Parts: sequence; structure tokens; C-alpha cells
Amino acid sequence: MDSALPLGTGSAQRALLLTTLAAVPLTGWTLHAVALHRKLAAARRDPLTGLLGRDGYTVKARQSLSRYADTVVIMCDLDHFKSINDTLGHAVGDAVIAATADRLSTWAGSRAAVGRLGGDEFALTLRIAPERRQARLAHLVHKLAEPVVLEDDRVVQVAASIGAAPGDSLSTTNLSVLQRAADVALYKGKHTGRAVVAAPEDLTAASVNGRRAGRPGAHPLERTA
Ligand code: GH3
Ligand code: MG
Repeated sequence: MDSALPLGTGSAQRALLLTTLAAVPLTGWTLHAVALHRKLAAARRDPLTGLLGRDGYTVKARQSLSRYADTVVIMCDLDHFKSINDTLGHAVGDAVIAATADRLSTWAGSRAAVGRLGGDEFALTLRIAPERRQARLAHLVHKLAEPVVLEDDRVVQVAASIGAAPGDSLSTTNLSVLQRAADVALYKGKHTGRAVVAAPEDLTAASVNGRRAGRPGAHPLERTA
């Protein structure tokens, strides 16, 4: 070993070399641990709804975008959800969120990525042929506006806003970009009862619901996408 070391190698350099050699198997374990951590994070589900969390949603959504040109990214936010919490209580709010998640999953089908990004905000990524988009989105808005019947038979009036961003018509497969465009579209149609499909100009919108967009980290969704 010594003969392989350059002349003048001191004890500090020798120690560094030995440390480096010792670290080789550790690096393998570290990579393994990082990969495992990523897999666990991707498999983690939102406990209230059973939907994918941000990490799992992001992985699945990116897969669809990279494989299928007709993939559409959809953002969904409940309307006036705070007032449900305020007037009927947090448990009823939870029931509404869970019912919404079920409706989204049923509508989207088993191949779709359906995630709860937080609060009353959901994201979906799935394939929809261009000629079917308007009808499918109108159907979704309609399903999400059906009253939720609670276990004790009380009925809660609900509604949701929907924004959609198709990868093909917007010429990008970047999830982060499409999520932001879908969010811009959602807030264009907020509280109107109609789903809005993002147009090319929505890719460069300066703000989303009053939040500045267009620079990294400016929008909360950019954390994971
Ligand atoms: P808008 O119509 O503009 O979408 O407003 P909103 O009333 O729906 O309110 P907003 O989307 O801004 O806020 C969502 C609220 O959801 C805020 C928070 O108190 C509540 N929330 C977040 N997570 C949960 C949850 O897990 N359960 C319940 N019950 N409420 C939640
Ligand atoms: Mg809301």
C-alpha cells in the first residue's frame, strides 16, 4: 500500500486515504438507504383519504407525462370549504374531504395519479383524449357538486373548482409547469361552476390567486414538482 502512495505522503493524507477506502461500502449502504427512503415516501398515503401524498403523486404523474402525450394535469380545490368547517365542524369537513377524494378516484380510474396536496386541494394526472376533455371535465364538476350525505343522514352542499392543463396542447411534459398552468386556470374559473382548460398564455401568468409566479419557489406546488 505504501509503495502506491506518492513520495512525501504524510500521516494526515494516509488517514484520509484509509477513511476514503473505508467509506466505499458505506456509500453503497447510503445509496440503498436513500433509494429506500424515496420508495417509502412515494408509497405513503394521505391518512384521511387514502390518496397519494405529494411524493407518490409526483412520481406517478411524471411517469404518465413522460409516456403519454395525451396526459392532462388537473387541479381541484373545494369551494367555500372553510365555511363547512366553521358552520358544521371539522369532522364534517373531514367527511367532505374524504367524499371528494372518493369521487375523484372513481372519476379518474385506477390508472390515474390522484393526490391530496394539502387541505382541500387535490391534483390528478391522467390520460384524456382531446375530443373528450370538455365533456369529461364538465362531468367531474357535476359529480363534485353532488351533495355529500353524512353517516347520520345530514346533507352537506358542496362544490369544487377545476383547472386542467393538457401536456399536448401546451407543448410541455414538465409537471411543475403544467400544475401551475392548471392552477391559473382553476382560479380563473373559481366559484363559477365550470372547469377551465389552461391556454398557452397561462404558462406565463404573473400570479396564481394573488401569489407571484414565474420564479422557482414562488408557488407552493413547486416544492415537489
Ligand atoms: P375558496 O372557496 O376560495 O377555495 O376558499 P375556502 O373556503 O375553500 O378556503 P381555502 O381553500 O382557502 O382553505 C381551506 C381550508 O381547509 C383551510 C383549513 O382550515 C381547512 N383544512 C385544511 N386541512 C383540513 C383537514 O384535514 N380537515 C378539515 N376539516 N379542514 C382542513
Ligand atoms: Mg378551497
